[in-house]
Amino acid sequence: MADGAFFMGHDPMTNNHKSRTALVHGGTRRSQYGEVSEALFLTQGFVYETAEAAEARFVKAGDDEFIYARYGNPTVRMFEDRISGYLGYEDGFACASGMAAVNGALMALLKAGDHVVASRALFGSCLYVLEDILARFGVEITLVDGTDNAAWDMAIRDETRLVFLESISNPTLEVIDLRHVCQTAHAKGALVLVDDAMATPVFSYAQECGADIAIISTTKHVDGQGRMLGGIICGSKALIRGPIETYVKHTGGAMNPFTAWSHLKSLETLELRVRAQASAAFKVAEALSGHPKLASVRYPTHSSHPQSSLALSQAESGGTVLTFDVVGGRTPCFAMMNALKVATISNNFADSKSIATHPATTTHQRLPQSQKDLLGISDGLVRFSVGLEEVDDIIADLLGALDVC
Ligand SMILES: *Cc1c(COP(=O)(O)O)cnc(C)c1O
Repeated sequence: MADGAFFMGHDPMTNNHKSRTALVHGGTRRSQYGEVSEALFLTQGFVYETAEAAEARFVKAGDDEFIYARYGNPTVRMFEDRISGYLGYEDGFACASGMAAVNGALMALLKAGDHVVASRALFGSCLYVLEDILARFGVEITLVDGTDNAAWDMAIRDETRLVFLESISNPTLEVIDLRHVCQTAHAKGALVLVDDAMATPVFSYAQECGADIAIISTTKHVDGQGRMLGGIICGSKALIRGPIETYVKHTGGAMNPFTAWSHLKSLETLELRVRAQASAAFKVAEALSGHPKLASVRYPTHSSHPQSSLALSQAESGGTVLTFDVVGGRTPCFAMMNALKVATISNNFADSKSIATHPATTTHQRLPQSQKDLLGISDGLVRFSVGLEEVDDIIADLLGALDVC
């Protein structure tokens, strides 16, 4: 460590898995000024005292030594240590967006001839990386119904290198039996990568169920206020500081230090925000369930969801998003959305502002009708992201909008 430059922040007390203390203090590195709030090191490069010191750092950089911001940066490292410690993983690599993280992890770990099994209900861009990019480079992809354990058992075989899934799918909130999939994959020597955006970092169960890597779009709940794009790949030190760091640092997917700084402050309030939004989401699901103008209401841990007992066996809460299906399809569904006064119409989720999305015509517009039917993306389906407004205002807004449609 350079003379007096930093106090290291790897205190095991603050890196406890799922501890709110870890969200406030984990990974902190202070400069010689002893600042209270994490410093923003908005720098691309780092100065060496001597040419010999530069040479030595390129031979092997110490834990507290940096070379270039595409490889690593003190502010970004604080964020990586804080969130990976919170999620129960040894290390993390922060990326420019959730998709830079998904693409980085997949490209780093796969080569021509490998076989991948993935759940069919995936975020559109993830499906593009698998089916269009990786397939072009000779990776074989098998897509399965993620809710069917027997389908996973059939598809995962000796040549399977990697299994990829969303723990809770977007937009239809399908829940995957993660323990089962991890056991099956590990028995065949395959790695399990979980896209954990919907589960939220607070209620993530990837590490407990045995996932080798958890990838989180930090654009969602970590930022939580609709500003920054970001992503993180969490896993063992061997995977993260091995193939993943090597791939991402050379291909330019690293997180901007300003984003990491903003994310560090967001992590301090993450649990308070997500718990409030998740508890409100459950109340909204409760208030809407059985409504005569809705064909269905879905929230993972609410009894109206067909997989609620599996969801509850894996997590305390189902996250901050629910879905409902307006009877009569697109016309009444659009009328309902247009009548909302508190919630906004947009295509993101996990914002402090409640957001209503019509997946069939926006986020999932490009899917062929047969694929929409298979995934349950109907013309009446609304994905509703519950924000930090008063829950009674959100419920009144939705019930009022349903009255006019
Ligand atoms: C949003 C999202 C992504 C992509 O994240 P970006 O930060 O927008 O790149 C990937 N997977 C899932 C499940 C998401 O919800």
